[in-house]
Amino acid sequence: MDEGDDYRAAARALADADVAAALTGAGVSTESGVPDFRSEGGVWDEYDERDFTIARFQRDPDAFWTDWLDLQEGLIPDDVEPNPAHESLAALEEAGLLDAVITQNVDGLHQDAGSRTVVEIHGSGARASCRGCGASFDAAVARERAREAGGAPACENCGDVLKPDAVLFGERLPDAPLRGARRWADESEAFLVVGSSLTVEPAASLPRRAADGATLVEVNTESTTASSLAAYTFREKAGEAIPELASAAVELQG
Ligand code: NAD
Repeated sequence: MDEGDDYRAAARALADADVAAALTGAGVSTESGVPDFRSEGGVWDEYDERDFTIARFQRDPDAFWTDWLDLQEGLIPDDVEPNPAHESLAALEEAGLLDAVITQNVDGLHQDAGSRTVVEIHGSGARASCRGCGASFDAAVARERAREAGGAPACENCGDVLKPDAVLFGERLPDAPLRGARRWADESEAFLVVGSSLTVEPAASLPRRAADGATLVEVNTESTTASSLAAYTFREKAGEAIPELASAAVELQG
């Protein structure tokens, strides 16, 4: 079978599924210029994971925010835009061939590309919330206030400290998105896994859960724990493989 046959077969699984979902990780955004965590040249080559734990935020919010600003500037370029992988996942949803994107990313690029059902299991980099009164702020506003303060930004309502809505290491995942992600994994008949090293739980378990009833399709430049469960694996860049898969699925549909 040549690669084109694999694309057609994976597209067929997608087109035939009554429910289909995708799980994405940092690898779906590397082609937009956002480094992932664990690849060579990834974030942990330059920053220390231990600086971004919930324990450090609680112990020393000022030091945490100083490093957080630095990380955000290093991680997300100002002019960041969705790439063809984000766009093709949005196009699949638009065509009625994909029901949801479950993402570990906090960069908002799926929403920017037009995906409507996006389940953010690791929170969002777009907002920050007050630990005291729960008020929610635009993350850019919180960062600006942190720069001015030279440390943790304070809530304008109650004076307590703001925390980014991105889930920190050691922090509990928000309940509703995790429940939603598990439901999509259980109900899917086709499940795409794109650009995740699957080294972080509970996201790492979702493909296993989905594989019970779904045809698993993996797109990743390296092998992962999902590879042996996947009916189709594409060892290619997401920005190349997902458009190929999406156009084959739309063609079959139409
Ligand atoms: P990870 O860094 O552990 O793994 C990235 C995976 O993507 C690797 O397996 C790599 O082989 C693959 N990859 C890299 N570029 C690719 C490409 N162009 N096409 C296909 N595959 C590619 O990331 P993860 O599994 O998402 O998990 C770690 C955490 O990273 C998550 O909690 C996430 O919140 C966080 N994170 C998010 C962003 C973001 O929002 N864009 C960026 C960095 C890290």
